[in-house]
Amino acid sequence: MAVSKIITAENPLLRHKSKKVTRFGDSLHRLINDLYDTLENAEGLGLAAPQIGILERVFVIILPTEYDDKGKVIAPQERYTLINPQFIRMRGEAEMIEGCLSVPGYQGKVKRAVEVTIKGQDLHGKPVRYRAEGLLAHVLQHEYDHLDGMLYLDRLESPDNLWAVQPQEAEEAETQGRAI
Ligand SMILES: [Zn+2]
Repeated sequence: MAVSKIITAENPLLRHKSKKVTRFGDSLHRLINDLYDTLENAEGLGLAAPQIGILERVFVIILPTEYDDKGKVIAPQERYTLINPQFIRMRGEAEMIEGCLSVPGYQGKVKRAVEVTIKGQDLHGKPVRYRAEGLLAHVLQHEYDHLDGMLYLDRLESPDNLWAVQPQEAEEAETQGRAI
């Protein structure tokens, strides 16, 4: 297990545009494993390579297992690895509450597309395409922004849309208190 340090908003590396991945070998596979280990350790929903200081167009997402009120699994955990992603369709607009592992202790309200189609490559370079709505659509847009050096802070329409949170309040947020 290789948990990396997650860099935070004041680090200028988060403001760079990441480079396209052209080699799908061992070093990319190590990077992806490190991203998953770091994301699981931080109990987040998504993590982009620049958040661990690597300026490559790669991100990973873990949607947690969903349970009903009797504790029965209604949706198993889902994992998405995207390399060189590109949105090919974005539809609708909705405000959502977001947190970011690189902006600890805060949450904010931002507008995002409701439904997206994204294409990219998997860890072997094979083309992949996903259509997503709801939470997954929102996490995809947040992670994609990291690859272009953007943070959700840049999308706030007013400074009032950002607030400090205590860990227990974060539990109640729309993203289940998990930062992306
Ligand atoms: Zn983030």
